[in-house]
Amino acid sequence: MTYAVIGGGVAGLAAAWELARAGHPAHVYEPGRIGGKIRTSPFAGRPVDEGPDAFLVRTPDATDLCSEIGLGDLVAPSAGRTLLWTRGRLRRLPDGLVLGVPGRLGPVIRSGLLGPGGLARAALDLVLPPSHPAGDVSVGDLVTGRFGRQVATRLVEPLLGGIHAASLDELSAELTAPHLLAAARRHRSLLLGLRTQTAPVGTQSGPIFLTPAGGTGRLVEELEKALRAASTVFHAEPVEAVRAGAGQAGEAGPTVGPGGGNATVSVTTPSGSRDYEGVVLAVPAPVASRLLGPAAPAGLGSIRFTSVALLTVSIPASQWSPPAGYNGFLVPHDEHRLMTACSFFTNKWPAAGVDAGHHIVRVSAGHSRDGRVDRLDDAELTASLIAELSRAVGSPLQPAESRLSRWPDAFPLYQVGHGSVVEGIERALAAWSPRVAVAGASYRGAGIPACIKSGRSAARTVLAAGARPEAGTGLTAEPA
Ligand SMILES: Cc1cc2nc3c(=O)[nH]c(=O)nc-3n(C[C@H](O)[C@H](O)[C@H](O)COP(=O)(O)OP(=O)(O)OC[C@H]3O[C@@H](n4cnc5c(N)ncnc54)[C@H](O)[C@@H]3O)c2cc1C
Repeated sequence: MTYAVIGGGVAGLAAAWELARAGHPAHVYEPGRIGGKIRTSPFAGRPVDEGPDAFLVRTPDATDLCSEIGLGDLVAPSAGRTLLWTRGRLRRLPDGLVLGVPGRLGPVIRSGLLGPGGLARAALDLVLPPSHPAGDVSVGDLVTGRFGRQVATRLVEPLLGGIHAASLDELSAELTAPHLLAAARRHRSLLLGLRTQTAPVGTQSGPIFLTPAGGTGRLVEELEKALRAASTVFHAEPVEAVRAGAGQAGEAGPTVGPGGGNATVSVTTPSGSRDYEGVVLAVPAPVASRLLGPAAPAGLGSIRFTSVALLTVSIPASQWSPPAGYNGFLVPHDEHRLMTACSFFTNKWPAAGVDAGHHIVRVSAGHSRDGRVDRLDDAELTASLIAELSRAVGSPLQPAESRLSRWPDAFPLYQVGHGSVVEGIERALAAWSPRVAVAGASYRGAGIPACIKSGRSAARTVLAAGARPEAGTGLTAEPA
């Protein structure tokens, strides 16, 4: 029995790994670079990530996968603090924040980040009646309702909004801040609730983030090696269509009769069609929608995406040095800057090798409510980001080297109700063909661990369908 995985990003590779471990080395279709958005390449003499630079270890999905493939040399970023570029200068973020939400008011008062009105409003969380949201709500509504607008825009938005390249008002609390929602449901005060929750983000012992020594790209390199060693086959071509039942590409309907014992899924590429026992679609939702054609669940096409870009620069130490003990700074969206965050790579990852003469800095841009990343050409984007960086650090910077990495439509926007949309997609697909499952950042989280989890889970779904001779009986010719 052979299975196919469409997409060789981390979700697809994790799906292929799960299939290989079950004794079914898959065919992986990836027309571009293996690894998708995980990419590490040489810059200024050392490996520097062009996309993600670490993964969260709160859930074991990424660390488990690393140990299964024998990738043991994981490193943590240095324990540096984070700054905020707000109201004209870089200011220290207070301690005790849980994704920007205060777990204590003292450090927020001392930080000077909130005005007197903002502080008074934040303290109201302690006395306001409980909010106890029943269903999904936006993070903006949840945080503003408890703490007021200043906490939302100056503390939570730069952290949580920055991670998702979106405004809090657009983000589903269920998906992007489940611990906040849980605290709001269980406790009257969010501040006190966060304090009593077991091990909220940022308070557990041990590192919060890890990455393979040499960069996150090594995760996908080592995974690819392990997959090839386990007889996984890689096809360097794009998939054009996925159809349930052996048949011609472009047919919406299956060719499976009642009983469905011989049900297969056909995958079409420019070089022809092949039939598989099951298929994991580990491509972004709009691509999955296109490949499934008339059978695509409607929800697939409703998910929006934001483009981001990452500028990496090497700055001569004679021009500027990042402050010791700090790993970078965040930029609140209401500052209307192009950059959303800046990471002092050489401070954050000393293990990558320190060159006393130069500092490497990674500057991020891209937000769901700011189309400039899509509009500006490479030269304009680079020049604008260097100008903003110079303003932020207070020195005119002329980088010795720069590299712009663009990630078009990279970040899914998890809007309120996204969880229900995903459940609807999965239900519709299962009803149409249990042999086809979706995986990847579009659905239940864009972080590397969430993508790994979704890839492995999708692989188990199609394996279970392949093991059941009646799996094809649910097929219908109609879109679900
Ligand atoms: C700049 C940036 C920084 C990030 N930082 C972090 C971080 O620090 N920590 C973290 O955990 N996460 C981070 N992320 C998020 C994380 O990297 C991504 O969510 C994750 O890598 C996505 O994996 P994926 O497999 O779902 O999708 P992708 O990596 O997008 O893989 C999908 C693959 O499908 C392929 N494909 C498309 N069409 C077809 C087709 N027709 N046929 C076959 N294949 C096709 C594509 O070529 C691609 O390789 C970051 C992302 C970006 C862009």
